[in-house]
Amino acid sequence: MITIDGSEGEGGGQVLRYACALSLLTGEPFTIENIRGGREKPGLMRQHVTAIEAACVIGNAECSGLAVSSTSISFRPGAVTPGDYHFAVGTAGSTGLVLQTIMVPLMLANAPSHLVIEGGTHALAAPPFDFIERTLLPVINRMGPTITAKLVRYGFFPRGGGRIEIDIEPAPLRAITCVERGAAGPAQVTAIVAGIPFDVADRELKAAQKVLAEWPEEAFVVRQLPADQGPGNALLIEADFEHVTELMSGFGKLGVLAERLATTAAKRMSGYIASGAFAGPYLQDQLLLPMALARGGAFTTVKISEHTRTAASLIERFLGVGFRVTEREEGANLVEVAR
Ligand code: ATP
Repeated sequence: MITIDGSEGEGGGQVLRYACALSLLTGEPFTIENIRGGREKPGLMRQHVTAIEAACVIGNAECSGLAVSSTSISFRPGAVTPGDYHFAVGTAGSTGLVLQTIMVPLMLANAPSHLVIEGGTHALAAPPFDFIERTLLPVINRMGPTITAKLVRYGFFPRGGGRIEIDIEPAPLRAITCVERGAAGPAQVTAIVAGIPFDVADRELKAAQKVLAEWPEEAFVVRQLPADQGPGNALLIEADFEHVTELMSGFGKLGVLAERLATTAAKRMSGYIASGAFAGPYLQDQLLLPMALARGGAFTTVKISEHTRTAASLIERFLGVGFRVTEREEGANLVEVAR
């Protein structure tokens, strides 16, 4: 039984999701206290409850203390069972983070799975669908499994109502090296609006254009969705390279200036481009678990995030696999699975 203090490191929901995944993968039960102890409002939110419930369903696990606001749970895993599953967050809580909890155990199972997940698809502090489809999955698929993702309907904060479908064809994981991003290809900035004024998208694109001044005019586009998929707004900034696609995002919210969210996301993209690294600030923590399970591999990345440090220490506790981080040229690091 592993005991986790949920206030350590990043102190957010991520430690719960990784702990469930690692527990299902190793058969090791865990208890966690001080859940989301690093957050303003600690305890489980609806989206975390759904993610843990999903882990219980696919892994025949037993979990005590599982309720909204709970600050401690005990999780005892059973056998991972691939199949057809449907999970609904019920709020705009992230579909991508439910997927983050169960994807790795299912991609190492003994048969395919089909998942339908409902909730938020483009919401703050979580991977938007496009990041999952174009940034994360191509790297995972290079490691062996075949995972495809389909966006059926957008879901924005606060309404949710989005739907994604995921097909997982398992395969053993092989170690890969993600050091070079390769030559630059097309780049695109998309301002998505649903049921809110077009002007918001326009302002976001102008602000992003100021930062990414060398990107061509035609790279900046507006995508207007049917109003019934909103209200909602997201800005997606995508850069394709030969070996990786990185995607930075910003999400509209009452009280957040369109210019501000666009400038922040665009600066994040220009920092990533300048670093020369393979993985940006979010791909970083999401590559650790598959690479640790492959018992090898490496990637270059921007500044190491607290999410990454927290995930690495949890992985080390469950799997006994560590990571070596070496600073390279300014702003870039090499992360290697340490054997
Ligand atoms: P909390 O509400 O406690 O902050 P949470 O459950 O929302 O928790 P975090 O612990 O903050 O989650 O973890 C968020 C996860 O989402 C991390 O894996 C992070 O890499 C990923 N993530 C956050 N923002 C983005 C983004 N813009 N693009 C891609 N991935 C993202």
